[in-house]
Amino acid sequence: MLSEFDLIKQYFQRPRPGQAVLGIGDDCALLAPSPGMQMAISSDMLVEDRHFFAGADARMLGHKCLAVNLSDLAAMGAKPVAFTLALALPAADRDWLSGFSAGLFALADQHGCELIGGDTTKGPLNICITIFGELAPGHALRRDAAMAGDDLWISGSLGDARLALAGYHKEYALDDAAQVAAGARMHMPTPRVALGLALANARLAHAAIDISDGLVGDLAHILAASKVGATLDVDALPAGPVLAAQPQALRRRFCAAGGDDYELCFTAARAQREAIIAAGVACGSAVTRVGTIDAAPGLRLVDAAGSALDLQLAGFDHFASA
Ligand code: ADP
Ligand code: MG
Repeated sequence: MLSEFDLIKQYFQRPRPGQAVLGIGDDCALLAPSPGMQMAISSDMLVEDRHFFAGADARMLGHKCLAVNLSDLAAMGAKPVAFTLALALPAADRDWLSGFSAGLFALADQHGCELIGGDTTKGPLNICITIFGELAPGHALRRDAAMAGDDLWISGSLGDARLALAGYHKEYALDDAAQVAAGARMHMPTPRVALGLALANARLAHAAIDISDGLVGDLAHILAASKVGATLDVDALPAGPVLAAQPQALRRRFCAAGGDDYELCFTAARAQREAIIAAGVACGSAVTRVGTIDAAPGLRLVDAAGSALDLQLAGFDHFASA
């Protein structure tokens, strides 16, 4: 029988010293921010049957719950420092715990982000991470910073995670290889941390957001906060490799309003085009220019020829059709 404290010690407490002054084991962890830096803090929760299927692979869940939090730091241009993990578990299952912690720490180590504390309780599977990052004052990529005339950019590629979901739900027929490849994008998203840092540190971008609920819905948050509009060339959107082989109507819909992409959508002055492409190359993330920020409010979707498109898209909202 594994007690709560044995569980924490065996699967989550690691001897390696990190950046925190005090890690797991006391009532609070202690963090000392680097002199002159601001802290960026964000929480994201994954709930069974809502964000992932019951019986989902534990290693991939460990990766994903941290990846979605790292993606928020990336979208702000902050450097990851540490995180806490609040975990409700139906049972202390050793196989599940070792898979989960392996997936979690593999990604944490890639980003030098230390687990400094948390909470563990029995209950329906629920994973909540709070992440702490740091950035220089004035460098944050805020949603309210887009300016009319800016280019609109997307990192990486879109839509494969949504395509995987369509396949799982039998909403769309995918062959086994396509299902596995698209599924990898859904279960193992890549947070664009290096790109976000490069955009913020070199002051290349104005506003940014990470795309978790679908591009159109997430972009609308930038437009509202910045009091601007945008023209989005739907045919310029970079489809994921599996989605790229599907018909145009599906490509357009899943690129523009997929969900679970964890790519960055950002705006930047035209003068930064070459520097942004170079930053993408240096960070190993593709970057694609997909539209412009306009002074006139509203989002205009256009095709490759510049003609208006009416796609009837909406971002994902947990309470929209309750
Ligand atoms: P308290 O009773 O003060 O809330 P706990 O007994 O819940 O503390 O936790 C003991 C220590 O283990 C604390 O330092 C806490 O931050 C840490 N901890 C608990 N659960 C986790 C977890 N899932 N991952 C990492 N650290 C955890
Ligand atoms: Mg506690």
